[in-house]
Amino acid sequence: MEKLFRNAPIMAKNDEVRRGLWDLARAHRMLDMEGQNDFAWGHASMRDPWDRGLWLKRANLGLEEVFEDDFILIDFDGNVMGGDGVRHLEWPIHTETLRARSDFNFVLHTHAPWSVLFSACTGEILRPYSNEGCWFTVPPPHYMGTSDLIDTPELGRACTEIMGKSEGVFIRNHGVIVGGRTVKDMLLAAIFLEKACRVQLQLAMSGIKHTYPDAAEIDKKRKTIFPQRARDNCWDYMNRKLDRHEGKVGTDKGEFR
Ligand SMILES: [Zn+2]
Repeated sequence: MEKLFRNAPIMAKNDEVRRGLWDLARAHRMLDMEGQNDFAWGHASMRDPWDRGLWLKRANLGLEEVFEDDFILIDFDGNVMGGDGVRHLEWPIHTETLRARSDFNFVLHTHAPWSVLFSACTGEILRPYSNEGCWFTVPPPHYMGTSDLIDTPELGRACTEIMGKSEGVFIRNHGVIVGGRTVKDMLLAAIFLEKACRVQLQLAMSGIKHTYPDAAEIDKKRKTIFPQRARDNCWDYMNRKLDRHEGKVGTDKGEFR
């Protein structure tokens, strides 16, 4: 942890930041484990609990290479306030989404493969053909302005305007932005969005007639399937899965647990 505190006192003021970045780093590695990696593209951020801006994954690392000291603190104008490393060009995704959405503390941008395919289907509305699609209170809309980098505050604002009250937005022929109040919600939104995109695209490929639940049932499912205890369980499960994936438990190391 020494690196995180190198620029003290502006960096970590207390364990809240340290704990948050620990979890956020693990969320990056979970997303790699779930197949959402794309070289060194893809990044998540956390709102600084001390109102100094936000903590953004540093550039030039793949999702699986992110650990708790791989974040830089930037303010809402993109100025680097602390930390080591290169700032992602698409930092405005994070500043503008967190500025617009006080209900989010975490934001993620990835090029998850099925989500990217769906981002090209700009006339399609994402439907809850499986449980995962019920996560979204509003189907993530399509931002059509550009398929290029979201590298200015204006473009970041344009994406958040299209996102509206949804938990996500597709960037045409490029990728997705999702957010959440907690790191758990951000992670689940990313995983569920990818699965919902896969389900819808595979159904379309099948050519078989398909349906989805009505609005009342979707609303009910959101409450029965995704209460806080289920979100906590999912997060705990993903942490155990990551530990197994990284060889920390479940291997024959002779450790008694
Ligand atoms: Zn991108």
